[in-house]
Amino acid sequence: MKKVFTYVLTLAAFGIILMGCTGNNSSKKKQPLKYEMNMKKIVIGNVDGKQVFEFTLTNKNGVEVKILNYGGIVTQLVTPDKKGAFEDIVLGYDSLQDYINDTPYFGAIVGRYGNRIAKGQFSIDGQTYNLAKNNGPNHLHGGIKGFDKMVWDAEDFIKPEAAGVMLTFLSTDGEEGYPGNLKVKITYTLTNDDELKIDYEAETDKPTVLNLTHHSYFNLKGHGNGDVLDHQMQILADRFTPVDVDLIPTGELKEVESSAMDFRTPASIGSRIAQVEGGYDHNYVLNNSDGNMRLVAKVTEPKTGRLMEVYTDQPGIQFYSGNFLDGSNIGKGGKPYKKHFGFCLETQHFPDSPNHQNFPSVILRPGEKYKTQTVYKFGISE
Ligand code: BGC
Repeated sequence: MKKVFTYVLTLAAFGIILMGCTGNNSSKKKQPLKYEMNMKKIVIGNVDGKQVFEFTLTNKNGVEVKILNYGGIVTQLVTPDKKGAFEDIVLGYDSLQDYINDTPYFGAIVGRYGNRIAKGQFSIDGQTYNLAKNNGPNHLHGGIKGFDKMVWDAEDFIKPEAAGVMLTFLSTDGEEGYPGNLKVKITYTLTNDDELKIDYEAETDKPTVLNLTHHSYFNLKGHGNGDVLDHQMQILADRFTPVDVDLIPTGELKEVESSAMDFRTPASIGSRIAQVEGGYDHNYVLNNSDGNMRLVAKVTEPKTGRLMEVYTDQPGIQFYSGNFLDGSNIGKGGKPYKKHFGFCLETQHFPDSPNHQNFPSVILRPGEKYKTQTVYKFGISE
């Protein structure tokens, strides 16, 4: 990636001395003794006449995340394992051009509607809207040019305990078929508690539908280091939304009990995947959905001891086991990403909600504020 200019912001956190190691692209690093909260910003290119920046945030424990204002993409996330060895645990590419060409939505912010809308059609107040169809007969992840392919305005911030990037974007009335001018704000924050927080906010000037999510593919062994079938998955959901052959929900909320869909107690992703046609690509109806933040999923990788917890206020989560990866996406360091080399946990409203009266509403009206939060927290399992 071409670096046009560089500036580095550092802030002494509690008198800790910086020992280096920001802006390093290598996936394996020696554990430094101590870090301070750190932020670096570089220009990596130009898209649609706008500058594309790469922000590197590093916390006091050496956890590092790289974020682009192109698509709000998380391109790198480096965390320690139980022995203190650092590894990049998200799938991604080495060049901006690869992200422009990307189809699996590696690391991106997805909108306006994360997941599918049947036949790309829905109605609000008796008015029917037709969206771009980009997934067979259906609409997926915001359409042909969704939020993952937009250059967002960006502002960074740094405090002793956290650093982040605020991304804003105006999605215009009629874009990909959606009604209303929609002002969107996404704030990524890396904390010294090893959390990556994502705050989503939006407002519209006409009634519209909205379902924003984040699409990182995780592999807690490190990206490109084999498949994720040995990862232990836990999803705190008693029910899921069964789908038809095109992955459109049938409308039923089905109990996971006594099926390969049941992850209420931890089970390896691979243990029952053969019983699920195509692999896991399902929305779970999360328990205790009252609009408040709660723990909804926990993933551990036995060999490295890496642990990831997901907290959200959203009613659903899409568990996708990277079924469509086939080795044709050549990732960072020239590593091919094959089937099941990453998993996604996309917090969300249920797929095709605009066409299911029994699903929680995704309609946003003028005067209302869309505001939700998801936290990915990293650690080591006991
Ligand atoms: C969907 C998959 C899709 C993938 C990449 C996931 O969110 O559930 O069906 O293939 O995104 O587009």
